Amino acid sequence: MRTRFALAGVCLLTLLCAPAVFAQKDAALEAGVDRQMPELTATYRQLHQNPELSHHEEKTSAFLAEQLRRAGYTVTERVGRYPDGSQAFGVVAVMKNGSGPTVLVRTDMDGLPVTELTGLDYASKVRAVNADGQDVGVMHACGHDMHMTVLLGVARELAASRERWHGTVVLVGQPSEETIDGAKAMMADHFYERFPRPDYILDQHDTNMAEAGHIAISSGPMLAGANSLRVTFHGIGAHGSSPALGKDPVVMASEFVVLAQSIVSRQISAQTPAVLTVGTFHAGTKNNIIPDDAVLGISMRFYADDVRKKLLEGITRTANGVAVAYGVASDRMPEVSLLESTVPTVNDAVLSERMRKVAVQALGAERVDKATPVMGSEDVGYFALDGKIPFVFFWLGAADPQKFAAAKSGGPALPSNHSPLFAPVYEPTIRTGVTAMSAMVFDLLHN
Ligand SMILES: [Zn+2]
Ligand SMILES: [Zn+2]
Repeated sequence: MRTRFALAGVCLLTLLCAPAVFAQKDAALEAGVDRQMPELTATYRQLHQNPELSHHEEKTSAFLAEQLRRAGYTVTERVGRYPDGSQAFGVVAVMKNGSGPTVLVRTDMDGLPVTELTGLDYASKVRAVNADGQDVGVMHACGHDMHMTVLLGVARELAASRERWHGTVVLVGQPSEETIDGAKAMMADHFYERFPRPDYILDQHDTNMAEAGHIAISSGPMLAGANSLRVTFHGIGAHGSSPALGKDPVVMASEFVVLAQSIVSRQISAQTPAVLTVGTFHAGTKNNIIPDDAVLGISMRFYADDVRKKLLEGITRTANGVAVAYGVASDRMPEVSLLESTVPTVNDAVLSERMRKVAVQALGAERVDKATPVMGSEDVGYFALDGKIPFVFFWLGAADPQKFAAAKSGGPALPSNHSPLFAPVYEPTIRTGVTAMSAMVFDLLHN
């Protein structure tokens, strides 16, 4: 017992002493961020009130480009080309400051077709016409306005402290993250032939999964890869009173929806994360008509390519198997079409541990949380060229600390990203984002 008491005493002392011994926060950086806060909060509110949908970030990108140019960066606008040939609104800002490594920091820029319900005095009232011709409310419901604000803060900190670093900084304003085709559009526009190829890539995303003032970082998988699929069952239409005269695609598709649930639960290892969700089911025009076709919209999530392949094979095999069981002719087998896709977001083990230590130094250990992987998706991974360039993504806490604590102890859940109620506590979130990200870039470009 004595030994245990003695050990406890040592541990307690170590814990109490540790902050005093190790925490040497960056006073110059903190003062710089302090000076920037009035302008950054005004920028955040302005961006929040003026969201633009994916593929339409024209004014947002022009604003970002102008601010980066004023901060001393060499800026290229309208970087990116979509597969249909249309122009993307990517922004690339470069600052060279002697010889040294190259660091790329990325923000996304697009808002969502969500009508804001926060009731904030700076709430968005913007409406726009979406790709389907519908009039929709537009909101920065995923917090990309926060990401742009933080990027501008980091840009100005770096520009104002050029004596502290050597190398090249590449700041990227990426369009169309929500439609996961913005990063691909920028890469398709000869990105790494036109701009310096980085040695390191950094990115962050605001979230209510962590409280404002904190960040959360881990090594390994952070966000899943995603594929969207369309599965079309071809039947034979008939009168609803005579099903035996047709082949009912509604029944086939229904059977498929149930069977497909066993692909994840029975064909993928229990140790391996995977999700398969049938999100849409469209068929028919009238109660008493058996339609010709039924069309399903599927989303699948994964961290590893072999899991992606297993999911895809499982979906195809199950759809074909159902069609065979219902006696569909071989030339009318189901069609499986791959729609949007994106790669997993995976943190480099060495770089993420280095950046975690930098964040602990800059913010204090009590404000650096361990991140847990989620099955949401991002497209920032395309800049890392399939893991060839070391990459780190971290969560930027945005939740009101009191509401966060209440939610943790069984109180009302906080709104997630994409909710019409998503409202980061912006002052501490901006301050923490700029401090953490600037400290990381300083560390990577320290001579
Ligand atoms: Zn989003
Ligand atoms: Zn987002």
